Amino acid sequence: MSCVRLEGIAKRFGSTQVIRGVDLDIQSGEFVVFVGASGSGKSTLLRMIAGLEQPSEGRVFIGDSDVTDAPPSERGVSMVFQSYALYPHMTVRENIAFGLKLKKTGKAAIEEAVTRVATMLEIEALLDRKPGQLSGGQRQRVAIARAIVREPQVFLFDEPLSNLDAALRTRTRIEIKELHRKLAATMIYVTHDQVEAMSLADRMVILNGGRIEQVGPPSVLYHQPATKYVAAFLGSPT
Ligand code: ADP
Ligand code: MG
Repeated sequence: MSCVRLEGIAKRFGSTQVIRGVDLDIQSGEFVVFVGASGSGKSTLLRMIAGLEQPSEGRVFIGDSDVTDAPPSERGVSMVFQSYALYPHMTVRENIAFGLKLKKTGKAAIEEAVTRVATMLEIEALLDRKPGQLSGGQRQRVAIARAIVREPQVFLFDEPLSNLDAALRTRTRIEIKELHRKLAATMIYVTHDQVEAMSLADRMVILNGGRIEQVGPPSVLYHQPATKYVAAFLGSPT
């Protein structure tokens, strides 16, 4: 079943065209990674799925609905950012609960849900701290917990590991992949790191100058690159 569908998406900022004619169909439960050089349009494409940017042309569908004109909160998506985007004045508990309060969930149900995701991510001991009292890795776990608690249809990640050191990056990457299996959710993940992309993706979408160069499973792209750009980007054998 199709979960996220992009039809003829274009995006201009003023007179600069940053996304050009993107069509893409993402299946329910798929782990799709947008990869490409800095400035290739990965974040802009993800933000249009989230509803944080409006396409200049084209339509965005999630499930059966055309959500092109729907606000972010009504799309059934949760986004995790590179910068975590936690509220500094709130505790970890309040940060995680925040998304549920917007959905007008009852107090007991909120408490139960927060405890459940905190246990899943092993951050129970941190619930009463403020973000300023956490390490970068702990902050990113809180940001992931806050995304999960809303039980979205679709998770959107924008370079979630870029601020972590190498060891923690590998560990968190494995945890995100495990989470994908456990939740059976659709995940769309942006990175400029081809190794990260190849280890996470069911399918990779290679972006170059706002266009899709090629879409497919990592091994297919690596062994059968459609363009010179893809071959060079992935370091395919020549
Ligand atoms: P990536 O995430 O692949 O690094 P982005 O989607 O952030 O790329 O950006 C793609 C292009 O769009 C870049 O040239 C960037 O400068 C431009 N861009 C992104 N956001 C804006 C904006 N709000 N206003 C003007 N230009 C933007
Ligand atoms: Mg980006």
